[in-house]
Amino acid sequence: MFDNLSDKLDKALHVLKGHGQITEINVAETTKEVRRALLDADVNFKIAKEFTNRVKEKALGQDVLTTLQPGQLMVKIVKDELTQLMGGESEGINLSGNPSVILMSGLQGSGKTTFSGKLANFLKTKKSKKPLLVACDVYRPAAIDQLHVVGEQIGVPVYSDRENTDPVSIAQAGIAKAKAEGHNVVIIDTAGRLAVDEKMMAEISDIHKAIQPQETLFVVDSMTGQDAVNTAKAFNDILNFDGVILTKLDGDTRGGAAISIKSVVDKPIKFIGTGEKMEAIDIFYPSRMADRILGMGDVISLVERAQEQFDEEEARKIQKKIAKNKFGFDDFLSQIQQIKKMGNMKDLMGMIPGAGKALKGLDIDDDAFKHIEAIIYSMTPDERSTPSKLNASRKKRIAKGAGREVQEINQLLKQFDQMSKMMKMMQGGGGKKMMQMMGA
Ligand code: GDP
Repeated sequence: MFDNLSDKLDKALHVLKGHGQITEINVAETTKEVRRALLDADVNFKIAKEFTNRVKEKALGQDVLTTLQPGQLMVKIVKDELTQLMGGESEGINLSGNPSVILMSGLQGSGKTTFSGKLANFLKTKKSKKPLLVACDVYRPAAIDQLHVVGEQIGVPVYSDRENTDPVSIAQAGIAKAKAEGHNVVIIDTAGRLAVDEKMMAEISDIHKAIQPQETLFVVDSMTGQDAVNTAKAFNDILNFDGVILTKLDGDTRGGAAISIKSVVDKPIKFIGTGEKMEAIDIFYPSRMADRILGMGDVISLVERAQEQFDEEEARKIQKKIAKNKFGFDDFLSQIQQIKKMGNMKDLMGMIPGAGKALKGLDIDDDAFKHIEAIIYSMTPDERSTPSKLNASRKKRIAKGAGREVQEINQLLKQFDQMSKMMKMMQGGGGKKMMQMMGA
């Protein structure tokens, strides 16, 4: 996420490293580089200029007796300003209605339908809501089918009416159905066009007026940079929407949309989409995003994801097995699968402070565990539960089955062995022992 921008900002802020104090000259040099980095990331010219002016003012206004080094101080100022620019606090969505009606707007291809599904899934699993999805695209039958597919995937019902060509009455019928059937949230997916046009705007505006949603969300593809910002402005002029959803942040996004959109429409970014899967949705936290942009990682989100995905029951089972020396490759496999559920590997790495930079250029993909899994799948159940049985001939057979080298099997066994020892030590209150081992 935002690799290029992070890199350039890092270089810009490096200018001050080694300098004993903040001077007008080195601040001017740094802010010039920061501005260039923002412009390269497709941040609007005026916003970039105002941003760097604020940074410059703050930096020069600092007390020289500050305990921070100039480099650190500048990073802090840039971080605070970036956070402010992206919205300051994180804002939730209004779910006060009964049912709460959420209207989706945005161009075709922005990710509206996908996001409608993600949001329904999020509200169902994390907020114990009972959502209903409503398909209001009367122009593309495929769009209705798509929403049905999504609904089926997440176990959320979808209301559509293929005979009806009036999206306003479909939306109203959807809400009536939700009331009758006890759904407390209605998510209305609407038709989008490839570009802003009058007819589409009139249509979404009619739906908006007729149903008066609690929450109107504007979905935008972050890959479209400044265009995203212009489209947001056009939709906001008509709908005065409540929040922005930035999709496709998992791609090779330059970052301009994330940074500029809030200050152009003065509406918060509420969620981000980071993949095609239904789980690839995150609440937007300006300060965490600023950390990530500055290559400082996002440990809070990482820990939250781990907590969400890790099954406590499973963890207890594994603990017992470790205590009884029964931890085997099947358990190892299930741990790998839990890690994979946390999301895209590259994305996860980016959340570890400093790791983004250290791992740059390395090709980390979701297949990182593929070879390990192939090796484990080639073992018999007996071998998986008692790895000590793996003699030379068994290893050879497994290597052949998995299409890997025997050497890799040995390596995996060694890692497995180390991991089992470490886990045993941590279990037996051996934290102290481990610290000693690590030379602390
Ligand atoms: P709509 O026309 O606005 O309803 O857009 P869709 O929901 O059909 O999405 C358009 C395409 O973008 C589809 O291929 C989606 O799978 C993809 N997409 C949506 N959100 C994301 C995202 O956050 N990341 C990635 N990589 N792809 C996404």
